[in-house]
Amino acid sequence: MKNLLKRMDNVRLLLEKEAFPGMAVPGLIYADHYIETMLEQDSALEQVAHVACLPGIVGYSYAMPDIHWGYGFPIGGVAAFDVNEGIISPGGVGYDISCGVRLLSSYIKLADIKPVLDALTTALFSAVPSGVGSSSAIRLSLKDLDDVLRKGARWAVKEGMGMQDDLDRTEEGGCLDGALCEFVSSRAKERGKNQLGTLGSGNHFLEIQVVDEIFDKAAASQMNLESGSITVMIHCGSRGLGHQVCDDYLKVMRRAMAKYKIDVPDRQLCCAPIQSEEGQQYIGSMKAAANFAMANRQIIGSVVRDVFAQFFPGKPLFPVYDVSHNMAHIEKHIWEGRKREVCVHRKGATRAFEGQPVLIPGSMGTASYVLVGTKKAEMESFASTCHGAGRVLSRNEAVKRTRGQNLVREMADRGVTVKADSFRTLGEEMPEAYKDISAVVEVVHQAQLSLKVAKLKPVAVIKG
Ligand code: 5GP
Ligand code: MN
Ligand code: MN
Repeated sequence: MKNLLKRMDNVRLLLEKEAFPGMAVPGLIYADHYIETMLEQDSALEQVAHVACLPGIVGYSYAMPDIHWGYGFPIGGVAAFDVNEGIISPGGVGYDISCGVRLLSSYIKLADIKPVLDALTTALFSAVPSGVGSSSAIRLSLKDLDDVLRKGARWAVKEGMGMQDDLDRTEEGGCLDGALCEFVSSRAKERGKNQLGTLGSGNHFLEIQVVDEIFDKAAASQMNLESGSITVMIHCGSRGLGHQVCDDYLKVMRRAMAKYKIDVPDRQLCCAPIQSEEGQQYIGSMKAAANFAMANRQIIGSVVRDVFAQFFPGKPLFPVYDVSHNMAHIEKHIWEGRKREVCVHRKGATRAFEGQPVLIPGSMGTASYVLVGTKKAEMESFASTCHGAGRVLSRNEAVKRTRGQNLVREMADRGVTVKADSFRTLGEEMPEAYKDISAVVEVVHQAQLSLKVAKLKPVAVIKG
C-alpha cells in the first residue's frame, strides 16, 4: 500500500484510490518525512483506505499526523458523509464518546506554585476521583442523569459548578441539542450514574502546566494565556456511559448492515444510513453521551477551581476552551464550490473552525500546545486537525519497556511531579510511547489546518 502513497508537498501525502478495491475517494494523510516513516508501524494506513470505501463519503478519507491504529477507523481519522446518502459509524467516533480536553488559564506564576506544588497536587488528587471505575461523590437519580444527558455542561453550571463564561468557552456552548436519552440503555445509565465528575483511567489526566512559549501574541492574550503563567489541562470523556453506548450501538449497527445491505471491508466499520432509524438513535445517544462528557469536564474544572482557590485566593482560573476529539457532528460545509450538509466523524481529531481554540495534549514528559483553527481547515479538511501526539508504542510494548523503571522518579528528574492510581497505566503512558508532539503540531501548522498559539510544559500530572 505504501507505494501508492504520493507525496504532494512537505506535509501532505495522497493515498490513491487504486490502493484498495472499492475506495470511493482518495486518502489524504498529513505527514512530513518523520511521520511518514511511522506509517509502517501498524495497519492505520489500511484503515484509511477502508474508511474511503464507506457509502456517501465526501472529499477524502483523512489522516492527521497523530494517526495510529484504532477500532475500525484509525485514531487521527476524519471522514465526512453526505447527510442523505451517507452513513454514521460508532467506530468513527470511538469508544470514549466526546473524549476531549478542557484548558484553564491563570496569572499565577510558576515561581509562586513551586513552594506549594506537592500539597496542591495531593489536594487535587484527592478531590478529583480517578482510576478504573472510580466513582463520584455526586449521586444522581436516573431522572437527574437524564437531565445531565439533555443539558450537558449547562446542567453543572445550573447546579452551581461553574459559570456562564465556562459555557461560552465550550464547544457548542457545552450542550448538544437533540440528545435522545430514551435510546441510551439502562446498562449505560447504570454505568454512568455514579461517575460524573471522575477522571477515569489510563490516558486521561489532569495536568498543571506552565506557558512556555507564545507564538501568536494576539490570540494568546484573547485566551488569557501569558508566558510563565500556570494552566490546568483536563483530559477525559464520557466514562463507562459512553463506552456502553458505543458497545450497544456496534451491535445495533451489525444488524442494520444486513437490513440496509451495506458492505464494508472490515466489520469494525459497521454503520447505518444517517437517515435510518438506527442511525438516528445512535446519533441521539451519542449526543447524550457527549453531554455527559462535557458535564464531566465542567464539574472537574469546577473542583479544580475550588482547590486552587484554597491555595491562591483571589487568583482565579479562567476558561480557555473545552473541545471534544471523539465525535461526529452534522455540519454545513462548502465542498468543491457546493454547499453540502455532512456528518463529520472526527476520531482522535479536533474540530478547527476559523478562530476556534484547538487544544493538543502531547505527553506528561514533553509538552502540549494551544492552536487556533483556520479558514484553510474549513476549506480542506472539513475544519479538522490533529488531537495529540499519537502513540508509537502499543500499551503492552510501553509497559514491557518500562518494567523495573521508577517512572515517578524519572519524571521528577525531568521536573514533573506525578501522581498515579496505577503503575501499569503510568508505564503505558510514558512519554516515549508517543510521537514527538512538536513534530506533529508542526505538520498541522505548516498545512495551516490550525496555527500555533502557545506551548505548554508539564509541571505536575495526575494520571487515572
Ligand atoms: P487519546 O485521547 O488518544 O487517548 O489521547 C490524546 C493525546 O493525549 C495522546 O495522543 C497523547 O499525545 C496525549 N497524552 C497522553 N497522556 C498525556 C499526559 O499525561 N499529558 C499530556 N500533556 N498529554 C498526554
Ligand atoms: Mn482523548
Ligand atoms: Mn478518552
